[in-house]
Amino acid sequence: MATSTIDLSLADIYDLAKTTLLKHGANEENSEAIANTVTTAERDGSISHGLFRIPGYITGLKSKKVDGTAKPEIEQVTPIIFRCDAKSGYAPIAHQYSLPPLIDAAKNFGLAAVAIQHSYHFAALWPEVEKIAEAGLVGLTTVSYLPWVAPSGGTTPIFGTNPMGFAWPRAGKNPIVIDMATASMAMGEVMIAARDGHEVPLGTGLSASGELTTDAAEIIKGVLLPFGGHKGSAIALMVELLSGPMVGETFSYETQKGDNANEGPARGGQFILAMSPDILSGKNSNDQTDRFFERYDAIEGARLPGARRHKNREDKGPRAVNAALIETIKQLRDNSEEVIVE
Ligand code: NDP
Repeated sequence: MATSTIDLSLADIYDLAKTTLLKHGANEENSEAIANTVTTAERDGSISHGLFRIPGYITGLKSKKVDGTAKPEIEQVTPIIFRCDAKSGYAPIAHQYSLPPLIDAAKNFGLAAVAIQHSYHFAALWPEVEKIAEAGLVGLTTVSYLPWVAPSGGTTPIFGTNPMGFAWPRAGKNPIVIDMATASMAMGEVMIAARDGHEVPLGTGLSASGELTTDAAEIIKGVLLPFGGHKGSAIALMVELLSGPMVGETFSYETQKGDNANEGPARGGQFILAMSPDILSGKNSNDQTDRFFERYDAIEGARLPGARRHKNREDKGPRAVNAALIETIKQLRDNSEEVIVE
């Protein structure tokens, strides 16, 4: 079944996101930070983190659990360790405040980390690690979420979809950017498949009765699985630890206990590490890594992670956006009465 879409320019996408957020109590600074995240996701073809997320962002604001006027506070705990209290705001504003001091410290001392607390992360992770790579540093970040993923061998969820982002800088070229859920598929992608009536690959998740299924709607009622069997499950566990106790925040199952279900994204923490390969190695790493990436790129059938998004980015034209989604967002922006967000 073909999905009906409407072409929107990137400026229109930004404007629709920003004006809708402003209408629901977010201030200029927060609305602009979120609208920018949403627009760059649409620009790069990461549509599950583009306008698709606006109804959820608005639900979080309406339920008052997320503060659309949050002004994060940064504490420099040691010369290379920062703690960011996101003040119950959405993640983009926490990144806006915490990345500049993190990057400065890593450039001066070789590495630096920030523990983001009391934040609502509802986006892809590449924007933050790509910003670190643009400064000539390697970025690594992790986020946990609500317990939707069962560990390998089990049917009871304990992990979030637990994404991790990693970026490696390249002088004069796009960085290498790996950004992936440790679940077999991000929940946003499963939701889009369910909305559009598409099947998902077997192994993505289990139905409520614990059976393997390709039906996305059944998986939403059941449980997701980690990618790659027990090895992916182990990485999901690592992300859970780095995004919870490492940064003074909750495990996914603890996050769920404090969350008002179905009211937008859940509160949590984020671990971000920035490292200087030049300071650590004592060499200029660029020529060596360039030779490696050229060799990699020459392998037929292989491509570097991030290349799809960077290619999409070259297209400055309009993006085809789901027509029903645009209508829902316009209702949220233009009508004061309650809009049901599925
Ligand atoms: P994908 O499986 O689509 O992609 C994962 C990574 O692999 C990307 O870096 C991608 O690069 C790369 N890649 C994909 N195909 C290939 C290929 N054929 N060869 C080489 N590299 C490839 O991502 P996921 O579905 O796992 O995650 C989607 C998004 O959801 C992520 O941005 C993630 O951060 C986000 N997410 C956010 C959560 C949150 O709580 N905030 C929770 C879970 C997920 P490229 O981009 O170039 O395709």
